[in-house]
Amino acid sequence: MNLKLKLYQTVFILLTASLLISSACSKKESTSSSSSSSNSSSTTGSLAISEITQTLGSDGYYAGSFVVPSDGVSFILSVLKDNNGSTAFYTLFDPDGTDILSSSSTPSLSGVASGSFGGSGYANILVPQSPSFSTKAGTWTFKAYSNDHVKLGLRTGTVPSSTTIVVQPYITGTTWSAGDLSAALSVMSSIYSANGITLTINSTITISDSQYAAVSGTFTDTTTTALVKQGVTTAVNLFFIEDYSGSWSGVLGNAAGIPGSMGIANAWNGVLNSLSAHASGSTLDSQLLGETAAHEMGHQLGLFHTTEKGGTSFDILSDTAECSKNSYDNDSNGQMSAEECEGYGAENVMFWTAWSSSSRSAGKKQETLSSYQQQVLKYSPIAK
Ligand SMILES: [Zn+2]
Repeated sequence: MNLKLKLYQTVFILLTASLLISSACSKKESTSSSSSSSNSSSTTGSLAISEITQTLGSDGYYAGSFVVPSDGVSFILSVLKDNNGSTAFYTLFDPDGTDILSSSSTPSLSGVASGSFGGSGYANILVPQSPSFSTKAGTWTFKAYSNDHVKLGLRTGTVPSSTTIVVQPYITGTTWSAGDLSAALSVMSSIYSANGITLTINSTITISDSQYAAVSGTFTDTTTTALVKQGVTTAVNLFFIEDYSGSWSGVLGNAAGIPGSMGIANAWNGVLNSLSAHASGSTLDSQLLGETAAHEMGHQLGLFHTTEKGGTSFDILSDTAECSKNSYDNDSNGQMSAEECEGYGAENVMFWTAWSSSSRSAGKKQETLSSYQQQVLKYSPIAK
């Protein structure tokens, strides 16, 4: 486990340092209140958003606290910096006095949560991001680096036996229209349903402004920010863009974080899925597009790749299959294909890459989630 965490940290620090992406993970291709003195708060469903008042300490950190009630289900604690400068949390102590961002704590989100290693303009901490964590009732306290806002999204109540997540699709460009997404949305809905989660999929919203037809996969990009900010606060927003721009072209999809933002209208409140990357001529591969949308939504809600590209780092869940380079890189190319990992996680929605086209033609799919993956989704702040 320590090894896993170290590897994640290395990967993410490199990404952050080069300002490529803020912890977002792209499928396939090259990458990857209750506050003590809260001001305005809003509630949608059982998710309440509040801004936490911070005080600048003599140690140079901004400090704040919030109370999780006895019926707390989950929370996402976000730190934001308006100019997209680097920001992060320094500590987050639970009511028992454990700093879950410290590498010496067990369990720990050190190097796992973007709120630990930092992001450009945005970073967060999700509890629970695995069954090892829980929303302990009582006062949580944090220290954060330079920022403009810390916001808490707190879900309270009970976890119902049947979980529902609302999804809001959007489509850009002129090549395809809303009706062309129907089959893929059905595939995505079936995948989640088979894993114990009901999706309520809103009617697709068409965004016709031409500047959004092809956008960068970098969520701090001005145009991408303007697009994703249009997302609603009551759903997981899926932006089906006609294509990515520039070097992102060919990537199937990417999410704004692991997790991205939930319940707040901002640049990280959604995922991108490229339609061009799923097309043969003018025909969309609805099975693959549905799997990609399911995958990116999994990231947006806090799920990591079960196995990363190199076969040397894995997710933080103990019940997902791991496909290690040492055991399964049969062609020794340092890259774990779905074919090499058949039976070792390639069937999982959150495997790092898709099956080859010939395997897909032969009926291979990525539609399964482990029990712990399902649990992270069922406890999600945005779920009901
Ligand atoms: Zn991914």
